[in-house]
Amino acid sequence: MDLQLASRIEGLLNDPTAPVADLRAALADLYERCRSQQQMLERLTQISDKYQRAERDRGLSYAEQLQRKVRQVEKIVRISDGYQSMLQDLNARLTALSTHDELTGLPNRRYLQERLTQAIAHAERNGENFSIALLDIDFFKRINDSAGHAVGDVVLKRVAACLREGMRDYDICARWGGEEFLILFACCDQQHAAQLAERIRLAVAALPTADLHPGLQLSASIGFTEFHPAETIDAALKRVDDALYRAKDAGRNCVVGNP
Ligand code: GH3
Ligand code: MG
Ligand code: MG
Repeated sequence: MDLQLASRIEGLLNDPTAPVADLRAALADLYERCRSQQQMLERLTQISDKYQRAERDRGLSYAEQLQRKVRQVEKIVRISDGYQSMLQDLNARLTALSTHDELTGLPNRRYLQERLTQAIAHAERNGENFSIALLDIDFFKRINDSAGHAVGDVVLKRVAACLREGMRDYDICARWGGEEFLILFACCDQQHAAQLAERIRLAVAALPTADLHPGLQLSASIGFTEFHPAETIDAALKRVDDALYRAKDAGRNCVVGNP
């Protein structure tokens, strides 16, 4: 691979916010590069084999010559398979990177935004309701400042794992921003969302932290709201943001709904 393409791909893999279009363009260039290298390899193999074959084939039976050809074809197929699986791995990695957060492994904001759009369409078609909740870790800056950024990262991972485990199978949780997580509660009204959000708040507050830093306190504030039919996703996000703001204002480590 040429250095320019390699460093371009390196940059994209290290940037979790890299646009999908850039990832696709890099994948297309890489694919083209692999293909031309494969063709070159096949041509070189043919040229080298051609001269050796003439010498070696003298005196060989027809069956032996045929077997040799079969082995050559098998070799080329193996090389080609290797490239194919490498491209598939890369494609899977790029897809995962464009839809997931690298630190926590949770879906990212872009992915959940798409799922919210689908949830709205589904709700409009089937008349089903859904709710969203926005969770923000309390005084997270203080955790970073007192225990260090690396401990802050571990806290983010623990909260993410706690959300993943505590959610119902058909809910989705994404890392929305630095220490903020957005949860989509499918088939869920305001009252039910209140119960689910409170359960999550309690689970986060009960997470073990003593092994990370002496006296480290962990809690989260949660705002939630039910989606209103025919409203835009931005309107619902604004409402959930206001609810979270009120939860912070009310002293944190609490759940506030905004119907
Ligand atoms: P509040 O209770 O009002 O939410 O206060 P807060 O300290 O949690 O909020 P604030 O917005 O002041 O600070 C959030 C901090 O989160 C600041 C930023 O450095 C940190 N942060 C964002 N992303 C990451 C990350 O990936 N890892 C770590 N360790 N820290 C992060
Ligand atoms: Mg925040
Ligand atoms: Mg915070």
